[in-house]
Amino acid sequence: MSAIISRTSFDTVDSGRDTSRADHDAPPKNVGEHGFTPAKVKDAEKILGQDLILCDIVYEDPKNEVRCINGAVYTNTRKTLPSMLPKLLTPPPPSYKICGVAGKGKGVVALRDIAMGEIIMIERPILIYPLMLLTTCVDRNTLAEGMLQRLGEDSDDYSRLFSLTNVKSKKTSEFWGILGTNALKVTLNEGVERILTNLWFYSCDPNATWTFNRRLIIITAQASRPILAGEEITIAYEDATQPHAGRRFDLERKYKFKCSCGICTNTSSTSDQDRAYYGNVTATASLEILYGMIFFPGFNTHEVAKNFQEHLIRGLITLKKEGIEMDNAAYYYVYLMKTYGLFGEKTKMRKWGFKAILMYSSIRQI
Ligand SMILES: [Zn+2]
Repeated sequence: MSAIISRTSFDTVDSGRDTSRADHDAPPKNVGEHGFTPAKVKDAEKILGQDLILCDIVYEDPKNEVRCINGAVYTNTRKTLPSMLPKLLTPPPPSYKICGVAGKGKGVVALRDIAMGEIIMIERPILIYPLMLLTTCVDRNTLAEGMLQRLGEDSDDYSRLFSLTNVKSKKTSEFWGILGTNALKVTLNEGVERILTNLWFYSCDPNATWTFNRRLIIITAQASRPILAGEEITIAYEDATQPHAGRRFDLERKYKFKCSCGICTNTSSTSDQDRAYYGNVTATASLEILYGMIFFPGFNTHEVAKNFQEHLIRGLITLKKEGIEMDNAAYYYVYLMKTYGLFGEKTKMRKWGFKAILMYSSIRQI
């Protein structure tokens, strides 16, 4: 089967023909059945036990234009993805603009005051591709060629993609450099994938949070605190709960970027100490394991539970103080609810349960 570019899928939808996946998931031209050479297919299959295929997912945008999310995914993931996505509601006039800021490249800036919890942007990704690509021996040039061919040189997404910043070394191609700089990590099926979306400014003290809806394949960004007109809208796309040295190492290695957010530049801040404590609690054992320790035979159930609650409360205080509560606090509320429930402290159990519900419902999973 020859390569199919996205335009073909548009025709398929317009004519009402069968839009089965077989039509959409053709391998790219000149790269063999699976999108790369036979020897590499064997290696990749050995590692992953799955084929990598090009795909496109059709949807209608709010302006009634038929569009496509293109990309490459493994067969097991493809099985879980729809071939067509529902149309999203017409968004309100944007509260942001995408523009350049000196020394930071392009990003998102508020056009007006934005209230806490308000949705700033709902968007579908430009591309989807597997994170595992980086560790397998897939022929990346051929794969890039196949994905770009599907995007089509005259498409909006093609121009959007090549307008994004590339901070990767000159040895990396422009295409993979842009993806490496801008793509966000999400989970589709059981694997972790990357999706390419609009560029966002990063901060360790972000004023917005983002979520990914697997069913609708959309990214939603919303304000995690009030944002003033003219303020840069920032998200944390690396683990912002680490102390400064860890954050700086990750940001410089991956993005050649020195963070100048308030928390990184304020040397008198106790942020490092707080985040180190938080990191110790969550890194040495997940909350689930710590909760499980309450039931270990021979342990003093009451004492272990009380220590765990103290950890949770201190973790919550840190998250709030550091401004990263919205991305991380909901689990803490749930475990506080569960531990109070164990001892029949119903009022406290309800209080934390209610907070968890409020937090989950304010992080809108559209
Ligand atoms: Zn920072």
